[in-house]
Amino acid sequence: MGEKKEWHSVTLDQDICKGCTNCLKNCPTQAIRIQNSKAKILKERCIDCGVCIRVCPYHAKKAVTDSLDIPDTYKYKVALIAPAFYGQFSRAENIGMILSAVRKMGFDDVFEVARGAQAISERTRELLESGELLKPTISSACPAVVKLITIRFPNLISHIIPLKAPMEIAAAMARREAVKKTGLKPEEIAIIFVSPCAAKATEVRLAKTDGKSDVDFVVSMKEVYLKMAQQIGKMTEEDIDRGSVSGKESILWAVSGGEANATHTERNISVDGIDNVIRVLEDMDDEKLKDIDYIEALACPGGCVGGPLTAENNFVARSRLSALVKSIADVGESVDSDIGAAWDRPIVYRPVMKLNTDMKRAMEMIMKIDEFCENLPGLDCGSCGSPSCRCFAEDVVKGYANPDDCVFRLKERMLDFKEKYEKLMEERSEQDEG
Ligand code: SF4
Ligand code: SF4
Repeated sequence: MGEKKEWHSVTLDQDICKGCTNCLKNCPTQAIRIQNSKAKILKERCIDCGVCIRVCPYHAKKAVTDSLDIPDTYKYKVALIAPAFYGQFSRAENIGMILSAVRKMGFDDVFEVARGAQAISERTRELLESGELLKPTISSACPAVVKLITIRFPNLISHIIPLKAPMEIAAAMARREAVKKTGLKPEEIAIIFVSPCAAKATEVRLAKTDGKSDVDFVVSMKEVYLKMAQQIGKMTEEDIDRGSVSGKESILWAVSGGEANATHTERNISVDGIDNVIRVLEDMDDEKLKDIDYIEALACPGGCVGGPLTAENNFVARSRLSALVKSIADVGESVDSDIGAAWDRPIVYRPVMKLNTDMKRAMEMIMKIDEFCENLPGLDCGSCGSPSCRCFAEDVVKGYANPDDCVFRLKERMLDFKEKYEKLMEERSEQDEG
């Protein structure tokens, strides 16, 4: 289907896939088809939201991340810890315990992504006050949402705040701090992000190809969790060598509402879960949200704590985070203001959902689709391998699917054929008798 070569963390294991259509029916960008009883991801439409990973009952969808075996060419290894990680452990009494346990796993140091979030919150407030931003301004923190906007909401691209995600800022800060501490060259230091989601793994891999990421490796939060969950239980106060230097406000970026709260705006929206995000963006596209200043939009349910690579369910993680930040100050240690928070890659429209870039041709296709749809049952059953009857009609008109892939149409054609055949036989016997 005209797929552009691109890398995605979300992948399918065809040997495990049973073609059950669960992912097909839930993908928010209609990026999945079933062919020969196996799912297939249309890469150009995939935003790495991870919904298909969550809904596949057979675990055939996976997020590809880097291995924890970091090459020895790196002399100093820094783990970059997203605040969602703090909510994963039932036995952690404070954040220092978690950060120290990460170091004990073999990292030379740990750095909190929440410090990057603090820098972004400060810059966001400045930009909002300056009046330079289009309102409502949309957060750029969730790469799945940014990707969704680039393929489905071109009119909203100019509303995305031109700032990097906290992970990137934190990576730059971590490298700078490590160079200062060790005297090593920047390239001798490995920055390893412990990720709650596939979208960030994809984002880093793509940014690295342009030389625009300070993150060297992205590892799965679940994998790190499994390696240190037991260790946390054995830790005592004496084992804590590293406390948190972040504030409550930036740690709570891990849950929906946290980032919006840190903008200090009154008229903001926090929306989580990709279907809810789509509804809000559709309203914004219809110019219904003119009274809103800021939109925090997160693809995962509950925010980053609901990422597909987390170990704990998002409700439990949220509750634990609230308890962990109770005794922490609102704002953490001051952060570098000259770290270069401005977005450094263009966000461009990718018309992958469009029928055709030529308007006349697109109109002709719409008419053919409408006509074809009239002969479809409208059940959106998925048995043709497309997510809906409308989508199947599109696939047929584009030449990607066969009209007889619809079992209902095929059945009707068979009945029609049977009727004609019986009539013909009847006429023949009448002629023979006459
Ligand atoms: S949910 Fe998708 S990937 Fe998983 S078995 Fe069903 S069709 Fe295959
Ligand atoms: S990651 Fe999201 S967009 Fe990509 S195929 Fe899965 S559900 Fe669809």
